[in-house]
Amino acid sequence: MPKNMLKDTHSPYDPDNIFAKILREEIPCRKIYEDDYALCFHDVTPQAPVHALVIPKGAYRSFSDFTANASDEKICGFFRAVKQSVLLLNLEKEGYRLLANHGEHAGQEVPHFHVHICGGGSLGRLISENKTHK
Ligand code: AMP
Repeated sequence: MPKNMLKDTHSPYDPDNIFAKILREEIPCRKIYEDDYALCFHDVTPQAPVHALVIPKGAYRSFSDFTANASDEKICGFFRAVKQSVLLLNLEKEGYRLLANHGEHAGQEVPHFHVHICGGGSLGRLISENKTHK
């Protein structure tokens, strides 16, 4: 971890979260891609024509936890897996959106770091019109 990076002080990782159970194959998922670093599967409640999730193979609560505590190899491997998933989903040409929620204000529901991949049609603005802050 770089010396000047702030430490993440949130609660400990919950090994019983739903994505940990998917990684342990205790519950099923619709798999798209898997390698040593990550697993990609379809979101069970899609919010776009194509909506997938990529999760790292390790106990990380959020983006902040992952980037502070995972090795450079694991971070690089994870983001390469995101790119590979984008290719397999055929989203490269027409475009896609990556999104990661961290914590309460972002509405993070599952406390295992994940990147949403959305695409397959026009996605509109990132934040709805009535939620902009000037
Ligand atoms: P977030 O709000 O960023 O934590 O997003 C959690 C996402 O996980 C939501 O989009 C859910 O629809 C999705 N999700 C929850 N449980 C499952 C599951 N068992 N399989 C696939 N996606 C899930």
